[in-house]
Amino acid sequence: MKYCHQCAAPLVQKIPSGDDKLRHCCEACDSVFYSNPKNVVGTLPVYGDKVLLCKRAIKPRFGKWTLPAGFMENGESSLDGAIRETIEEAGAHIQVDASSLYTLFNLPSINQVYMFFRASLVNLDFAAGAESLEVDLFGEDEIPWDEIAFPVVRSTLEHFFQDLKKQSYPVRMFNVQHHEDMSVTTTLISLSAETDPS
Ligand SMILES: [Zn+2]
Repeated sequence: MKYCHQCAAPLVQKIPSGDDKLRHCCEACDSVFYSNPKNVVGTLPVYGDKVLLCKRAIKPRFGKWTLPAGFMENGESSLDGAIRETIEEAGAHIQVDASSLYTLFNLPSINQVYMFFRASLVNLDFAAGAESLEVDLFGEDEIPWDEIAFPVVRSTLEHFFQDLKKQSYPVRMFNVQHHEDMSVTTTLISLSAETDPS
């Protein structure tokens, strides 16, 4: 960010009074521009014991498989954003119940928070959207585990297939750390009570 969105004057980096972090500040009109983490929201669409995955038609991770997910828009809820992304990327018709929140990942090293919601596919009329090359259903043994786009997607899928066997889907929150050697550590930091099998 180089210029003020209010008055177009050049911005400077400084710590505003009462703050303790460097911010982009405009000395012409006194505006302060904050940079905060972004929310990525998505669904885990389920049909029987299979999960819907999308093959990415965009960078990063072009050609790798992912759950439908994307950045939240202003003015929408996290769940509404996840449903919108599922329609956009997979053309999928889904239903969610009152216990849809499933996994939440804090990624402080890249300033993102991921949220995935469990959903049921209403029918099999799905089709790849503009950001997907292909959309398909996979059972646990069919998942292309070596071709999964992101650690948060792999973790959500691994927990889902374990939970499916117990028919209990507790809500989990994780911290994800990206290390300099490109490795990623995922640590469970919150776990809700087991849900009643239904
Ligand atoms: Zn300004």
